[in-house]
Formats: sequence, C-alpha cells, structure tokens
Amino acid sequence: MTDDSRSKLLDRPRYFAERTIPRDGWSALSRRDRSWESAYRQRWQHDKVVRSTHGVNCTGSCSWKVHVKDGIITWETQQTDYPSNGPDVPEYEPRGCPRGATFSWYTYSPLRVKYPYVRGALLRLWREALELHRDPVLAWAHIAGDPAYKTQRGKGGFVRASWHEVADLVAAAHMHTIKRYGPDRIAGFSPIPAMSMASYAGGTRFLSLIGGVCLSFYDWYADLPPASPQIWGDQTDVPESGDWFNSTYLIMWGSNIPMTRTPDAHFMTEARYRGQKTVVVSPDYSDHTKFADHWLPAHPGTDGALAMAMGHVILKDFYVDRQVPYFESYAKRFTDMPFLVTLQERDGGHGAGRFLRASDLGEGGEGGENADWRTVVMDAATGAPPSPTARSATAGARRATGAGISSSATSIRCCRCWERTTSSSSCACRALTPATARERCCAGACPPGASATCS
Ligand code: SF4
Repeated sequence: MTDDSRSKLLDRPRYFAERTIPRDGWSALSRRDRSWESAYRQRWQHDKVVRSTHGVNCTGSCSWKVHVKDGIITWETQQTDYPSNGPDVPEYEPRGCPRGATFSWYTYSPLRVKYPYVRGALLRLWREALELHRDPVLAWAHIAGDPAYKTQRGKGGFVRASWHEVADLVAAAHMHTIKRYGPDRIAGFSPIPAMSMASYAGGTRFLSLIGGVCLSFYDWYADLPPASPQIWGDQTDVPESGDWFNSTYLIMWGSNIPMTRTPDAHFMTEARYRGQKTVVVSPDYSDHTKFADHWLPAHPGTDGALAMAMGHVILKDFYVDRQVPYFESYAKRFTDMPFLVTLQERDGGHGAGRFLRASDLGEGGEGGENADWRTVVMDAATGAPPSPTARSATAGARRATGAGISSSATSIRCCRCWERTTSSSSCACRALTPATARERCCAGACPPGASATCS
C-alpha cells in the first residue's frame, strides 16, 4: 500500500487522538471519557446469589448460582459444589448448557406466554354456540359435531382469551367427551413431579377423579426412557448418566444426547477414551452421530422394525437355537418373561393373552393378599404355581430371593461379573470369594444361609 492510497479515516485516530505516548512507546495514555463502561459494570451487578435450576421443558436439574439485583435476575453461572464421583469416574460438575445460561432472558421475555390463547376460529364458534345454547356442554356438543374448526388446526391464528372463558370451554369439552364416549377416553399427563409436586399432583388427581387415563410424562420427553414405566412398573430405575462411563457398548437411540442431555453428554464422550463402542440409530447425521463407531441411519418410521429385528436375533441366538445361562438368568430375574400368561384362541390356535393373576387360581382368600394384582410364576422346586402365601413374583421379589439364579453343586455364578466361583477361587469382581460362595448366593442376593444349589 502506497502512502497516497491510505485511508484518511484510518489515519484520523492515529494523528488526531489526544494522547500521551511514553518514551518507551509501548503504551498510551488517553483522556477520552470512559463513563460508557459503567453500563457494562451495572449489567453484572447483584445484591445476592441464590441457588436454582430451570424447570421449564428441562429435567436436567443442573445447579446454578442465580445473581439477583432488586429482585430481578441479572445473570447466572454454574454451581461447582457437586459431590465427587470418586477417582474412577469423571465428575458431574460443572453441569449446565447454553439454554440454561440464557434462562433469565426467557423469564423476562416480552414473548413469554402469560395468558390463555385459543385458535380464533374455535373461539368464534364457541361464542356463537353459547348464544344458541345456554348450557356450555350443549354448546360444545354443537361444535364437536361440526368439523369446521378442526380444519383450522395447524394454521395458527391464536387469539388471547380470558381464563374464565377458557376454563368453561375446557370443562365443557371434558363433560361432553365423558357423556358421549366415557371417562376413559380422556388421556393426559401433567408435568414431571421432580419439577413441581403441586402441578403434577393436580393434573394426576384430576384425571384419576374423572376416571381418565394417566399417561406417563416419560412418553413426552424425548430424552427419557419412554417405555420404562410400562415395562418396569416404575420410573427412573434406569442408571444415572454417570453410569454411561462404565459401559463398554452404548446404543444411542431416540435421543440426541449432546442436544437433549447436554450437561451429561461428556460421560459418553469421555467413555470413548476408555474404548467404549458407540452405536447411533438416527435418520440424520445429527450431533451425536459423529461419536458413533456404527451409524444405523434407519429411515423415519422404520426404527420399530429395526428394534424387533434385533430382538428376533437375540431370542433366536441366545434362547431358541441355544440356551445361554447369562441370558436365561437375566430374563428370569429382571424381565416379565417368566410371568405366566393366559391363552386365547386365535385363528385356530392359541396366542398369549393377559398375565395370569393369583386371583385366577382362586387365591383371593386367606393369604391371598392383593391377588388381583399379583402375577404368577412357576415354582422351580415343585413345577407348579406358588401357593397363595408365597411371595410376590415381581422382579423386585425375585431379586430379593434370588429366584431364578442358576448354579451348580460345585460352583456358583456371581450376578455382577457372571464368573463362577468355586471352593478354591473367587469370581472376577471378587464379590464372591471361596469363603462366601457357600453362604451367600449371588453377592448377597439370596438370604444368608442359602447354599450353592440355591435356585
Ligand atoms: S440442561 Fe440446561 S436448561 Fe436444563 S437444567 Fe441444565 S442448564 Fe438448565
């Protein structure tokens, strides 16, 4: 660049700024006003710090320091006082994500929904129907029989309404559905109890009282195990995120971990350094796909078929063509496969019906407590269903009694590492030693005194 082509604008701060340059030439002293900087400092001022988290649309429950000034959230930063996971697992701390860091903007956003909104077409029909029918339930029946408003779904057009008007509309719709179809045609869920027991209990109680169906909110959050409550009977009995680190083979399916469980995703990436193999089932090359050793890009709508195919291979290879003790024991102790089912005639043959209950066996009398709710397994010792006074056959009871654990007279398997221990050797994880193998079946799963032939 020649002297003539130089920008005079660029020269201006060089030649016209009022400043003092010391002799060494490494710094400059400016007399320009710096009061503008106070706005930046005020942005971060606060008079107290409280602990909180973000319960809206997130179940991460990360711990945050929330800085407050005059009752207004000014900014947040992550808490760092999580308990340690010990020397063998990375720490949880710090937890958080960019969405949580900007949560105060969400809290005070002018776009935040604070009032009830109804699709304009529906509100107009509702008000017209109320003119014709004084009874709100009849007014809703009038609308429900008219498909006009349903054609407007998905087209936006929401308008603000009053709480009173919306409460009337929702109540009338419920009443109409109950009258016309029955209460069990109403299904719903209320958000997670970990966020607010009051809101959770309110919705669940309402559905229970009207005879509706309570769905699990697990089915509505993409990063939680959707089928867990249906299979296991209760929720959150899955391993915590830190346990991903202990896995040697991880399948990520139905959850884009770095996006949907951001603060815990590091356990997965850290486990990769331990040699963990990772499989991702995802139709797109999403954030977690880049971590995958194997990417199964199942087409949308085909993942159910993929899961059933995988189940078919497992059943065929480990239960039908040959019986593998580990798989058999797992199925007996941790799944509902041992529960007896009723048989139903179907297409000239018999198919599986519902679970057999103790009450089906006439066990509702003395000792048959809750017989309508108790599933039944075969007693391995007698080859018959257990007596009415026998313990429940639930997975928890089977774990507690050790029922279903295979063993031999000379050795016993450990339920943790699946190694056999004998009178002269310990199992791999050392949960069972020669000294305990004869007294304790499966690392204490059986009651003291159970022998190595425990079944
Ligand atoms: S995951 Fe993000 S939004 Fe959820 S609690 Fe943690 S920081 Fe907040």
